Amino acid sequence: MRFETLAIHAGGEADAATGAVTPPIHLSTTFRHGPAAERVAGYEYQREGNPTNDRLREAVAAMEGGATALTFASGMAAASNLLESLPAGARVAIPDDCYTGVRMLASEFLPARGITVDVLDMADLEAVRAACERGLDLLWVETPSNPLMKVSDIAALAALAHAHGALLLCDNTFASPALQQPLALGADIVMHSTTKYFGGHSDVLGGALAFARADEAFQRVAHRLHVTGAVLAPFSAWLTLRGCRSLPARMAMHCANARRIAEFLAAQPEVKQVNYPGLAAHPGHAVAKKQMRDFGGMLSVRLRGGRDAALAMTGALRLFTNATSLGGCESLVEHRASVEGDRPTSPQDLLRISVGLEHPDDLVADLEQALRAT
Ligand SMILES: *Cc1c(COP(=O)(O)O)cnc(C)c1O
Repeated sequence: MRFETLAIHAGGEADAATGAVTPPIHLSTTFRHGPAAERVAGYEYQREGNPTNDRLREAVAAMEGGATALTFASGMAAASNLLESLPAGARVAIPDDCYTGVRMLASEFLPARGITVDVLDMADLEAVRAACERGLDLLWVETPSNPLMKVSDIAALAALAHAHGALLLCDNTFASPALQQPLALGADIVMHSTTKYFGGHSDVLGGALAFARADEAFQRVAHRLHVTGAVLAPFSAWLTLRGCRSLPARMAMHCANARRIAEFLAAQPEVKQVNYPGLAAHPGHAVAKKQMRDFGGMLSVRLRGGRDAALAMTGALRLFTNATSLGGCESLVEHRASVEGDRPTSPQDLLRISVGLEHPDDLVADLEQALRAT
């Protein structure tokens, strides 16, 4: 089955008991069992597993082309369960441009568990090779990356990692499986903040991991999730499953709108740089073209007027809401450095934009009036 069909049908079968076309939400925390705890229908307790969550897991695994998937209370719960299931002494490499939470996890929590973390430019394959040669257990990539929209070559990194006995994990949140399927390119694990494009409406927090194989690494994370308990609530699983159905259609519109905005911004005198992998001038354009179906709904822009211009522009926008997060129907903008806390890594002249599903003419008109206010 093709992606658009899987997005609607995987995990979406009519309810066997009632024929309901829309999946039911099972809120029960506990499931009736036999006198010696024999399972009646495969379930025992909600933290260990529930039918609504299982539908979403099936959908995520199918959409990523994985053997199996796990869902979590948030993207960071997925990331931390995976990283903290590594044995003490494990060596991990993360990208120099990546989600702030992953960077904080790597610097504040992993060292205390005896896990060493290297920070690498994943576009520099020689640097990655050197790290692999020093010894590596897990290579973590995020492509396109937050917020610089750097592109990493998933197939090349998978080959490097595997040649040195390491696993490759790809944070696929920005692209979504509608645009990029890392497992097919050789990655071993895909991570998602389903809070973003999967949910699609800025109203449900969640995370997921899709695994190429239902192997020992998968079992370790599944067991850790069951014991430590950062599980996705059934209502959240249901909302996210609902988001799966429209993901391909929404992504097509996000991409078209983002391309239009990237091209508009790139032509404006106030703009120093537009980071959008769909632009031919983007350093990762060729790799993005090779591994993505389209270039996504996220971009960042740097202004010639520096921090002051960036703050003036965000303040003057009317349709774009000043807010963090991404992947919803409404367009959002944020001065990333201000959101990153006391040690920001983003340039002060940079705005990150999550392009929504409004009419592109309205979005461009709003950007135009706000640029003139800088
Ligand atoms: C939001 C995000 C995360 C973290 O996910 P939460 O659901 O907020 O915990 C991780 N990676 C990327 C790329 C994200 O955008």
